[in-house]
Amino acid sequence: MMPISPLAHVQAAVILAAIAALSLKLRFLDKKGVAASIIIGYAIIILGGLSYFAILLAFFIISSAVTRLRVRIIGELPIDKDWIRSWRNVLANGLAPTLTILISRLLLCDERIMAAGYLGAVGTAFADTLATEIGLFYRGKPRLITNFKSVEKGTPGAVSPHGYLGCIMALLIMAAISWMLGAAPPHLAIMLIPVGIIGTTIDSLLGAGIQGKYRCRECGKIVENPHHCEQPAEHISGLKWINTHMVNLISTSLGAILLAAAATSL
Ligand SMILES: [Zn+2]
Repeated sequence: MMPISPLAHVQAAVILAAIAALSLKLRFLDKKGVAASIIIGYAIIILGGLSYFAILLAFFIISSAVTRLRVRIIGELPIDKDWIRSWRNVLANGLAPTLTILISRLLLCDERIMAAGYLGAVGTAFADTLATEIGLFYRGKPRLITNFKSVEKGTPGAVSPHGYLGCIMALLIMAAISWMLGAAPPHLAIMLIPVGIIGTTIDSLLGAGIQGKYRCRECGKIVENPHHCEQPAEHISGLKWINTHMVNLISTSLGAILLAAAATSL
């Protein structure tokens, strides 16, 4: 592994302290979310470098801004998705990218493969986040990815044209940013687009299939949280230990593997 200069640690500490303070002030993250993001950010800056960190930061800033915009335009509806992001959200989206860098460094992987894995993970996370956010703007009822039946917004595995539009927008932004930062050559940035679409689709399939689903005893909605309307909801299908964050972690890891595999074969 490359030697890490003391300056890199100072640099990381200063950057992360500034971002942590700003995230708390703007209420992008709660306190535990800030703690998780400092650990993830530190690992990425030290093991990957600043351009890797900038990619994750862009994802975080854009998706937080889009969440705000969505809440302002259509209200806090219909799912209790984290408006202030928590440590679970930070880990669900940041763990696979961090592990990709860590594993690549430990295995002395080629920089190109590491970059591909990292982009595959962050790209899938970003695509899935914007798919959820932009999908909420869809006026009709989304359909379940497995049987195309109309379902309520916020049902795990629900898809809509707006959702896929959000997914593709995210991937185009991410491809452009990573290319501009020099983190990925053009062909890899382009490959990110199909990989991210596949990753997001897998996320929806897992959401519809194995993710735990509950029916609220009060309002009757099918929800992904074991609590709704301030009371425990009834478990109806899926595995209880597979929640939305776990599904995210699996799909972002698959995104990493797919783009790294594409980079090795190109
Ligand atoms: Zn309810």
